[in-house]
Amino acid sequence: MSKIKGSCLCGSVTYESDAEPLMVATCHCTNCQHASGSSFSVNIGLPAESVTLNGDSLKAYEDKQTDSGVPMLRKFCANCGSPILSEVLAAGGLNFVKAGTLDDSSWVVPNAEIWCDSKVAWGAAPDETPQMPGNPPLG
Ligand SMILES: [Zn+2]
Ligand SMILES: [Zn+2]
Repeated sequence: MSKIKGSCLCGSVTYESDAEPLMVATCHCTNCQHASGSSFSVNIGLPAESVTLNGDSLKAYEDKQTDSGVPMLRKFCANCGSPILSEVLAAGGLNFVKAGTLDDSSWVVPNAEIWCDSKVAWGAAPDETPQMPGNPPLG
């Protein structure tokens, strides 16, 4: 059984890999913020050839705003919009899987934070913020 297995929200795109992650990076770049709709993205670097992607609804957005000038492909589910992975063409097609799409993400420990120049102040809630186990009470 692959250690790394995941899917989009609707389940029409799935992926797996048997490789050991090359890195686990929390990325604060503004492109990850826009693509995820959140404060940052936790990305798991895997050799491209180790990743098997399945699903008819997989689409790729060519992100041209890269340091290298070589586009990177942000792959997502066209049905539900979940970002699945980024393929960094400048790094030999290195794949960065989005940790939030893993079936089991309990083993994930980021070993670097990158693009901290664009890190947002609201990324983590202060300790005194009210904590609720699920939805907030209505009304
Ligand atoms: Zn989907
Ligand atoms: Zn990023």
